[in-house]
Parts: sequence; C-alpha cells; structure tokens
Amino acid sequence: MDAQPAVFEHPEFDHHAEVIFLCDPASGLRAVLAIHRTTRFAGGSGGCRMQPYPSSGAALTDALRLSRGMSYKLAMAGVPIGGAKMVVIGDPAKDKTEALLRAIGRAVERFNGRYVTGGDVGVGGPDLDIIADETHYLVRPADGGDASEATALGVLRAIERSVSRHLDGAALDGLTVGVQGLGHVGRRLCDLLAERGARLVVADPRADLTDAVAEAHGAEVVDPDALLSSDLDVLAPCALGAVLNDATVPELRCRIIAGAANNQLATPAAADALAERGIVYAPDFVVNAGGALTSSQRARGEAVDVESLEAIAKNLDAVYDLAEAEAISTHEAAERVARERAPHLA
Ligand code: NAD
Repeated sequence: MDAQPAVFEHPEFDHHAEVIFLCDPASGLRAVLAIHRTTRFAGGSGGCRMQPYPSSGAALTDALRLSRGMSYKLAMAGVPIGGAKMVVIGDPAKDKTEALLRAIGRAVERFNGRYVTGGDVGVGGPDLDIIADETHYLVRPADGGDASEATALGVLRAIERSVSRHLDGAALDGLTVGVQGLGHVGRRLCDLLAERGARLVVADPRADLTDAVAEAHGAEVVDPDALLSSDLDVLAPCALGAVLNDATVPELRCRIIAGAANNQLATPAAADALAERGIVYAPDFVVNAGGALTSSQRARGEAVDVESLEAIAKNLDAVYDLAEAEAISTHEAAERVARERAPHLA
C-alpha cells in the first residue's frame, strides 16, 4: 500500500491547529486548508493559492509551510491573528472555472470566520469577486486592487535598509539588483528600483514580462536558471518558494537577498549556509509584510501610507542586531523576534 501523507508526523507540521482536506467533485475542487494558529481574537488568515501541484503531498507541504509563514509575518507586523493558507490543486490557466471559485467560497464560508481568505498566486482580481459572492470571509482592498503595490514598496524599503546597513551606506544608484519573477510584485519592484538608479537583471519564464521591463528600464534579461549565479549586489526573489537550497546557495554571487517570495529557504539550514558564505539574508516574512502592514488602510480604500512601511526597516534592524549579537542566522533571529511578540507562536 502507498504511504499516506502523514500529517502529525510531517516535518513541517509545527502543531498546526487544523489541517483540512477539501473536495468538491462537481467543480473539481481539491484543496488543503492549513490553519497554523488561531488567537483569542481571531481565526487564521492567509490567501488562497492555486498551482498544479504534482501530488497531494506536495500541496500539503506547501500549505503547512505557507500558513506557518503567514503566522510569523503577521506576528512580526504586530497583527494579532494566526496564519493560515488554502492551496488548491490545479492549473489556474486550465482548471480555474467559475464553479471551482464558487466551491472555494462555499468552503471558506463553512468555517464561519475561523479562516479568512484572500488572493495569492494563481487566484486574484476578478476571481475574488466570484469567491466573495459565496463567503463573508474574504479580505481585499476596497478599491478591488491587491496588496502587491504595498508589498513592492515594502521590499524596496527592505533592500534600502539592508544596503545601507551592510554595503557601507551605499545608495541604490549604480547597484545591480536581480529580480526573479516579474509578476504583480516583481514588476512594480523593478519600476521602483529603476527610479532609484539601480541596474536591473531580470528573469521570468514569460517573455512578454521580461521584454516589457527590458524596454522600460533597459534591464538585462537572463534565463531563470542563470539569474541566481549572476553577479549581483542584491537578489530579490519574487517568484515561488524554496529557491535557496543545497543546490543554489553555493552558486549564488550576490551580497544581499531581499525579496517578496514566501518561504525562500528550502530548509532553515539554507540560512546557516548563507551566513557562512557571508551573504546577508533579509528574512522573507519580514520583507514581504507590506500587505499585512497596510491591510486596514487598503480595506478603507486609502492610498498606501509609505510611512507605515518603515516598520519593515525597524524590524530588519531588530533581526540584524539579534543575529549579530547571538551569532545566529537572520532566519533564526527573525523567528525569535516574532515569537517574543506573539506568544501564540510558541
Ligand atoms: P505572480 O504570480 O504575480 O508572479 C510570479 C511571477 O514569477 C510570474 O510572472 C511567473 O512567471 C514568475 N516565475 C515563475 N517561476 C519562475 C522562475 N523560475 N524564475 C523567474 N520567474 C518565475 O506573484 P506575485 O503576486 O508577484 O508574488 C510573488 C511572490 O511574492 C509569491 O511567492 C507570493 O507568495 C509572494 N508574496 C506576494 C505578495 C503580494 O502582495 N502579491 C505578498 C507577500 C508575498
């Protein structure tokens, strides 16, 4: 008999409060909902992602990692809510039908607020209108937009803080920044970096996206496989997770890593390997908290208040200070800072 995906024994389990497998044969919905923590005040919150996972085990692993990451991001941002994530198994380009989106909404509604959803990779824009028809428990900006503007501004602030702290006070002007992934966040980040005089090296499997950034900013386009080993001052991973792993860390030729992608480290050991190589890693859940920090502004339909993103620079300082004082990786330091702020993570 095939091994079943173990949940309690799963290496990423981390005492999740709830892990639910969702199935709706009529629409083809197959999904995993992971609620990492709930608090006295609220259930778990985190977007809904859709990807063609190769197996239900891969979907489970991603859901567990993403919901845990949400808990740490929210804790670091001072939001007293636990993290959660729903991952839907399927190819958004082929399988994302109205019936499937409605089934997602109905599933979310059944949890009565114990899980609050939103957009994520593969689910966004008009999809959220359909999901919102079926559930009260969906957060999105009043203007119908998404969090990516705030996220990109937050990543920029993290890059600026990391550069000023670790590259002898250098400004972005003249520095080479590699942006992996030119989707909602990566494209906006490129615009912001170019405005500040950074030289861009970019990669995305979609040629229309790389062509647009090359044309707008004179960016150098490289193959997705080549970006990580390009000569860079800063690498900004803005695609998918686990890009920093046993195979890639030895190949990196950058001085700082600060980007939007969730779960950039394949394992915590990758953070130690980066530290050993003298590469500064700005922990993803500190860097990509722009959406969490501005969610109340955006829910009111207000423009993003850039001042509120200063918290990202302050949080990074706390992380870098602790990592230096204790001679630990920045990842471990960030988790410790988050746990001190949010007892429900312990
Ligand atoms: P997106 O789906 O709009 O963009 C991702 C891009 O990465 C796509 O253009 C895709 O073609 C590209 N890509 C895929 N594989 C690649 C590879 N191997 N090399 C280079 N590019 C590749 O997603 P997004 O909203 O821009 O988010 C990017 C990342 O940031 C995701 O990991 C997401 O979870 C995380 N994040 C996003 C937000 C947000 O506000 N959107 C907030 C926090 C974290």
